[in-house]
Amino acid sequence: MATLVDFRAEKPNWCPGCGDFTVLAALQKAAVNIGLEPEQMVTVSGVGCSGKISQYMGSYGFHSLHGRSLPVATAVKLANRDLTVVAAGGDGDGYGIGMGHFIHAMRRNIDITYLVMDNHIYGLTTGQTSPTSDKGSKTKTAPDGAVEEPVHPLQMALMAGCGFVAQGYSGNLKQLTELIEKGMQHRGFSLINIYSPCVTFNKVNTYDFYKSNLVNIDEDASYDKTDRFAAIRKLEEHEENVTGVLYHNPAKQAYDEVLRGYPEQAIAKNDLKITRDQWEKL
Ligand code: SF4
Ligand code: MG
Repeated sequence: MATLVDFRAEKPNWCPGCGDFTVLAALQKAAVNIGLEPEQMVTVSGVGCSGKISQYMGSYGFHSLHGRSLPVATAVKLANRDLTVVAAGGDGDGYGIGMGHFIHAMRRNIDITYLVMDNHIYGLTTGQTSPTSDKGSKTKTAPDGAVEEPVHPLQMALMAGCGFVAQGYSGNLKQLTELIEKGMQHRGFSLINIYSPCVTFNKVNTYDFYKSNLVNIDEDASYDKTDRFAAIRKLEEHEENVTGVLYHNPAKQAYDEVLRGYPEQAIAKNDLKITRDQWEKL
């Protein structure tokens, strides 16, 4: 049985204190806790500081292009549905250039767990306004304060039909580990947006800020977690400053379940399944 050491690859070189360390640790712990072996899992990342996670995670990995972790992860899952597939990236990567893929992966309900390390800024490129930057926040590209409204990924996920919508925080490793475990065990697309502070370039959305403002809705029994409109109201009630499973509805069939038999039939029909010997003669 695999241990945490088996899921460690390169030593991370994020800035000391970066929230992404906790996300990596939570992903490694979740993989061990649900009994995965490294070869049963693929971590696909986009581009950004967070995109390095596929190199640090001791599973199979694919460091893809900016905003393209979801199409690559989709291909991996459809090629081998036995794999546990995790896509990961940042807010700029996933909710900016990758936004189209985000919406379509959710409506298709591809069986992927998507971790978004949301630090409200572009960290790798040294501190520009991102799609989730708060209105009025001052960055290199908005020295007088951002004039645009931020995107609301959790609300978008709920409206796009995502069956598992959760939010975590890098200051709570235990809860984040549990959220990732639940997300990986959910059959279908699961979104876990993670408030993961960029300690170098975002001096507003800090650990102290989240510690003072976040409400744990895992302890909130006042609404039905399978009611997505109740989940939207709960988000609005707390101005999105929540952690926990916001919505979970496992009833919807995952894409590869709907297309059961498709990959095998396609392979047989087109004779795509070649042996290593055949491949060497091509
Ligand atoms: Fe983390 Fe920000 Fe440093 Fe990037 S720049 S590694 S997001 S703290
Ligand atoms: Mg970011």
